[in-house]
Amino acid sequence: MVAAEQVHNFINGDWHSPATSTLLDVKNPATAQAIARVPLSPAEEVNQAVIAAQKAFVEWRRTPALERIQYLFRLKALMEANLDDLARTITNEAGKTYGESVAEMRRGIENVEVACGIPAMMQGYNNEDIASGIDEHLFRQPLGVVAAITPFNFPAMIPLWFLPYAVATGNCFILKPSEKVPMTSQKLLALVQQVGFPAGVIQTVNGGKETVDALLDHPGVRAISFVGSTPVAKYIYSRATANGKRAQCQGGAKNPVVIMPDADMEMTTRIMADSAFGCAGQRCLAASVAITVGDAKNTFTEFIADAASSRKVGYGLDEGVQMGPVINPDSKQRIETLIAQGETEGAKILVDGRSKTVNGYEDGYFVYPTILDGVPPQSNIASTEIFGPVLSLMHANTIEDALALVNNRAYGNMACIFTSSGAAARRFRYEADAGNIGINIGVAAPMAFFPFSGWNDSFFGDLHAQSWHGVEFYTQTKIVVERWPRDWSRQF
Ligand code: NAD
Repeated sequence: MVAAEQVHNFINGDWHSPATSTLLDVKNPATAQAIARVPLSPAEEVNQAVIAAQKAFVEWRRTPALERIQYLFRLKALMEANLDDLARTITNEAGKTYGESVAEMRRGIENVEVACGIPAMMQGYNNEDIASGIDEHLFRQPLGVVAAITPFNFPAMIPLWFLPYAVATGNCFILKPSEKVPMTSQKLLALVQQVGFPAGVIQTVNGGKETVDALLDHPGVRAISFVGSTPVAKYIYSRATANGKRAQCQGGAKNPVVIMPDADMEMTTRIMADSAFGCAGQRCLAASVAITVGDAKNTFTEFIADAASSRKVGYGLDEGVQMGPVINPDSKQRIETLIAQGETEGAKILVDGRSKTVNGYEDGYFVYPTILDGVPPQSNIASTEIFGPVLSLMHANTIEDALALVNNRAYGNMACIFTSSGAAARRFRYEADAGNIGINIGVAAPMAFFPFSGWNDSFFGDLHAQSWHGVEFYTQTKIVVERWPRDWSRQF
């Protein structure tokens, strides 16, 4: 039994515990043992962080971009050196396998690398002689204090979609991590402290709704980045913007994947199993509905049922484990209830992952891979985000019918097609109503140098996370029109 670690806020360059706050247990989802206690910080804690950030901003925005990124180069080196420890922490609090945690860290570090290009990325532009003797320039300036509110499923990568761009462009950044997984960000912030960022440039305030509301309402916070479920994304977008802040809010998903009869079935099944069951289905880019077209139905159904039944489930740090638990007992119960609802609505449970335990981890929150066949397109289960290792199967006769099913949904995070036909792939790319498209790809996750382009109910705002969108989101443009009248006949 390991003693539960106390999680602290990192405010004004130091570790801090709020004087009054409730403490919440953080449990390892594979063992159900408490491994940490996290404070639910009150509004006053947010206020202290904002004041420290406003103070730090005065000097930080004047620090040349080239100097600001030197801190990020050091942060990258420290993250690489501590990758194993960070990955183990992710597995212990979020449940994913060690390999998945390492991959998450890699995707996070890539964002730090891209943000090191800020001196070029935040350049403006100009014109000489917009009128005789008059020049015009566009500069990008930081906003001030900005904040990010992040979900449980990528405790390192998602904060890193925002932090490096925010500080490289000259802002001061406050992170409100998910209260379900606060240990990874505590470790990241310990590295921030080791790097020696000036006090107040990067801070964390742990907590839940009260802490979030304090950030949304604080007049000193200029911009809010959010990733999480759609109802909360909508709420945060409307409250932040009503308070005059910039907001980018990424929401939930229900990602359809079309499988054409000419797809390479062995490759497709392998990739689809990883997409649907990787990270126990707790990825906003998980395949959740597979739509087979024509003859693809029989082969794919048989292959994917095999892949689901043979996936090794267990504690993510154990050798050979391919899938870990879901985040908590509420989540397990919600997923199992939705599976039952699918059956009531007319689907057939082809592979049932309910009521199974893992030897040695009998208390863990495990749901095994599950496949629902023949899910009716108009059913609730066809459009509800399950966020667990459950793949729904639907069947269509033609690509037109399949596209109609793809586009008949509120979310628009990702849509994929598996085919060997360029024409089918192009048509899909052109017509699918989603912002991230995969062609023979199961998780179409944009690299750090592309924006993460969710659409529809998967995103509220206009500028997405990562890359150029991040630079634009965290800067405001300033136009300067300039004239220097002088006597041209005079010599210098
Ligand atoms: P969540 O919405 O429950 O929580 C996200 C954050 O919001 C947390 O920090 C939480 O403390 C805060 N929060 C929760 N309820 C709140 C409320 N009522 N008021 C104010 N703040 C609140 O999401 P989660 O369960 O942590 O994460 C899973 C969800 O995130 C899924 O829906 C998944 O699809 C989505 N997600 C989306 C993306 C994307 O890029 N679109 C990426 C990862 C996860």
